[in-house]
Formats: sequence, C-alpha cells, structure tokens
Amino acid sequence: MMFDIIIVGAGPSGGIAAKTISKEGFSVIVIERKNKVGYPVQCGEAVSHYALESNNIKPSEKWIVKKVKGIKYTIKRGGIDSELFFDNKGYSIDRTLFDQSLINDATDKGCDLLISTQVKSAIRSNSYWNVKTTKGKEYSCKLIIGADGPISTVSKCANLGKNNTLIRGFQYRMKNIDLQEGDWFEFYSSSEFAYKGYAWVFPRNDNTFNIGIITQGSPKEELKKFLDQLSIKYNENNIIEKNAGIIPMNGTLEKLISDGVMLCGDAAGLTNPITKGGIHAALTSGRLAGEIAVKALEKNDFSKETLVTYQNKIKAMPFSDKILVEGVNIMYSLTEKEWRIFGEINQNQSRIKMLKTFVNPKNFSLMKKILKLKKAFMISRRYGW
Ligand SMILES: Cc1cc2nc3c(=O)[nH]c(=O)nc-3n(C[C@H](O)[C@H](O)[C@H](O)COP(=O)(O)OP(=O)(O)OC[C@H]3O[C@@H](n4cnc5c(N)ncnc54)[C@H](O)[C@@H]3O)c2cc1C
Repeated sequence: MMFDIIIVGAGPSGGIAAKTISKEGFSVIVIERKNKVGYPVQCGEAVSHYALESNNIKPSEKWIVKKVKGIKYTIKRGGIDSELFFDNKGYSIDRTLFDQSLINDATDKGCDLLISTQVKSAIRSNSYWNVKTTKGKEYSCKLIIGADGPISTVSKCANLGKNNTLIRGFQYRMKNIDLQEGDWFEFYSSSEFAYKGYAWVFPRNDNTFNIGIITQGSPKEELKKFLDQLSIKYNENNIIEKNAGIIPMNGTLEKLISDGVMLCGDAAGLTNPITKGGIHAALTSGRLAGEIAVKALEKNDFSKETLVTYQNKIKAMPFSDKILVEGVNIMYSLTEKEWRIFGEINQNQSRIKMLKTFVNPKNFSLMKKILKLKKAFMISRRYGW
C-alpha cells in the first residue's frame, strides 16, 4: 500500500506529527508495535505547561491528573542539601490517555493507525521508502518519520546513527503511603542513590504517587534505598503499577535527516540531559517534522536539501544546546568537596565569603564548572521541561 507519509511510533512525537500532516489532507499511516497506544506507560508522566502551550495543545481534563507549581530539585551531596527550583507550572498526566488523544486527533482527520505491528526494515529505492513489518506486510511512502523511541529502527535503516548514552528508568506507582501530597514535582540525588541520575516523587491524585529513579547503577536497588530514606514501607498492596524504560542523555544526534527521512523525539536523542524529560522535545520536534513534511509534500521535494530546514530548527532549540550535556557531565564529575562549595554558593552565603571563594585561584576551574552548571539549570528552568 502506498502513503504520502509513514510514521513509525505512536508516542507524543509520532502522534503530533501525524496530527499536523493529516489535517492538511495528506495520506498518513502510523505504525505502532504496542497493542494499545500509550500502554504500557514508560514515563513519570510529568509535563510542563509551556511544553503544551508552545505546541498548541490545550490542557484537557481528560488526561490531566494534577496541577503542580514546578520542580524542586534537592541535591544531597557534600554534606549540604542544595535546593534548586524550576518554578514553571506543569501537570501530572495520564500518559496513555495523552498519547491516545494526539493519535485520535490524527485519525479523526483520516490518518491510518496500525497497532500491534513492528517495523522490521525500511529501504529506500527509486525515491520511495519500502517498509516491511514483522507481520509480513509491506508499505511504501515518499517520506518516512522515525518517531520510534530511543532505539530507532528508522534511524538504523537510514544510517543516521544512534543514541550512544542511554540511562535506565524504573518507577512504581504507589497508593496509600505515608507521604504528603505536595504540589511540586520533587527530584533528589545523593551519593547513596541516583548518583548519576535522580530519584523522583511526582504527586498525582487520591494519595497516589509516581516514585521512580533514573540511574546508571542498579535502578531497582537504588529505588529501594530511596524509599527507605523516605521511610516508605512498600509491598505488593501499595504498588499499583511498575514501569521501566530507557532514556537517551547524550544530546541531539548529529544527523536528523536524509533524503526522504526525518527523526524526532527520543529517536533523535531529544531529551533534556539535565532533567531527562523528553515529552516537551518530542512534541516540538514532532510538530516541526510535521510542518516541514507538509511543505515537502506541497513542493513534492523530499531531498535532504529541503528537509535540512527541520534539522536547523531543531539544532537552534534550547534543548539542543550543548551546555546541557556539558552541564550533566559536570554534575556527574563533581567530588563531595566540590558539591559542598556548590551548596554553599547556592545557599546564598555572605557576598564577601562568596567573592573569596570565587577569587581563590585554587577554585578557578571549579568556578568555571559551576557557572556552566548554573547556565544549564537556567536553560532547563526557563525553557521548561
Ligand atoms: C521511566 C521513565 C520516566 C520518564 N519520565 C518522564 C517524565 O516524567 N516527563 C518527560 O517529559 N519525559 C519522561 N520520560 C521520557 C519520555 O517518556 C520520552 O522522552 C518520550 O516518551 C519520547 O517520546 P517519543 O514519541 O519520542 O518516543 P516514545 O514515547 O518512546 O514512543 C515511541 C513509540 O515507538 C514505538 N516503536 C518503537 N520501535 C518501533 C518499531 N520498530 N515499529 C513500530 N513501533 C515502534 C514504541 O512502541 C513507542 O510507542 C521518561 C522516560 C522513562 C523511561
């Protein structure tokens, strides 16, 4: 079967791309390997208001579970608790319903959706992509969009490279636990757990929480340590759901396009390495890929010279700023003593003491690192998550 566009993956990037293209009347098919769009969930289900607003998505009661004031990030290192605030409002969402709502908007405009179907290969010949699925079916298109997550088949078939650094996430949805349902998303990192990553408590409703961890260590063991530290007793009765997945954290891939192909979302490495959040970048990149795809269809030109506009736009986005990867590498390299100095600066100690720390030649290289780290946090805070 022939389509204008094939989108592989029905996550937020694939869903919004499909919606953007099908509303212009072009033929689109989304191919998704899961049996149900958005399920099982592999996410903490936190999204900023700005992520939605900047992508023209109206917050809906159908998938918003709770409103929050922002992110509070506590770094327990060097004997000091450093608290950082990303005070831009956001939501706990129902990720399954959210992903489904994007896809429904597309199918309402005539987009085809194929679930329970995995794309096995994509080969370009005579200016068309021929896509084979594990069900033995073949589909062709003028332009293929790889929205197929951190380990992308489309990227592999188009020789666009791969996400080199992946980090594992693991989460429990818990209920009836002895925890105050606050109105901030809380991030924690310490030398005992989430040393390279962070643990989180995301309040939902009805005394329900998403509590999870992203770490380069052992997620299950470290999540246990985190729960112990919060004095949360857990058992099979208060864990309602478990979810796990991987997240790219090495920044935007170098090449996001080639003739007749574009990558978006996690497939393009588009998470914020500091927060590891990826819904925002998935939405923005999926929307932009959809808009550029429409222009390419109107011109009937799918060459990389046309599609490079997409790549340039993505590279100019704050979430592609190299300072974010640099910032996270700095975070993971600081010693306890250096975290102490970071903590003291963060606690707004007296100006004179701070100045002394800054002008001490012994601290020069650390101060450079701290300034870079602060900039990375500032971008994450200002731009949203
Ligand atoms: C544990 C965890 C917690 C997270 N928490 C948050 C959070 O709270 N906030 C946030 O912003 N981000 C979070 N993220 C990251 C966020 O979930 C992703 O960045 C986001 O889902 C990326 O969207 P996407 O559309 O690019 O890819 P995905 O949502 O991964 O969608 C890709 C889709 O492609 C399908 N697919 C893959 N290969 C094929 C194939 N060959 N054929 C057919 N279909 C295929 C997959 O089944 C999947 O449905 C978290 C990630 C994890 C793992």
